[in-house]
Amino acid sequence: MKRFLIAGNWKMNKTAAEAESFINKLKEKKISNEEEVAVLVPFTDLYSVKSALSGCGIKFGAQNVHFEASGAFTGEVSVPMLSEIGVDYCVIGHSERREYFNETDETVNKKLKVLLEAGITPILCVGESLEVREQGEEQAFVGGQLVADFADIAAADAAKIVIAYEPIWAIGTGKTATPEQAEEMCAFIRGVMEGLYDGVVAESMLILYGGSMNAKNAKDLLEKPDINGGLIGGASLKADDFATIAEAAASLS
Ligand code: PEP
Repeated sequence: MKRFLIAGNWKMNKTAAEAESFINKLKEKKISNEEEVAVLVPFTDLYSVKSALSGCGIKFGAQNVHFEASGAFTGEVSVPMLSEIGVDYCVIGHSERREYFNETDETVNKKLKVLLEAGITPILCVGESLEVREQGEEQAFVGGQLVADFADIAAADAAKIVIAYEPIWAIGTGKTATPEQAEEMCAFIRGVMEGLYDGVVAESMLILYGGSMNAKNAKDLLEKPDINGGLIGGASLKADDFATIAEAAASLS
């Protein structure tokens, strides 16, 4: 049976009160595969989301973390802080963080390691720009990110990481990768994992697609064999659309 993860990346949207009312709406939808659904929310929403989700299988997480446990890093949040709240997931290396906040493969690698040590599942984002794709270099680029991001991570830990393939040209642009383009890259990513580790690790990993996935195009993307779900930005902010995407995954598992 194919496993899925449908994860909503709220980015910098929703106050704590808005988050609570959104979760209450989402719960009313009675999503059939709650265990395969997660919301990734601003730090300020973590407590209200945790409490609103009580008694429900939907998971929750953060969108970034610092790799140090504590110290003089004004404005940052550490893994022990997230652990105490009880988050399930943390997004790492989103292209917006790589572009606007100097996230590098080196910091991504450090963050992956501290999250894994704490038992929080990282959702690692990789993906190429339009320029790289137009040069036909997308596999070399994404392959390079993966090699650097997984440096010195043992197979048992690597298997726990969720990878999200997010072509930058498809994020928030309304331009979705075709199911064939998304499948081609997700299959390539699984192959890179097989090369770095082995076939068992590669097969066990969840590889998601992200980039303008919505209620209309989700099923066509999710039915591809190497796509185990979606990291969803804009469409995850609307309870109806997000629930429809989750149900598309449920219908395929
Ligand atoms: C994202 O930011 O992870 C994303 C995929 O955004 P959108 O769905 O809005 O393209």
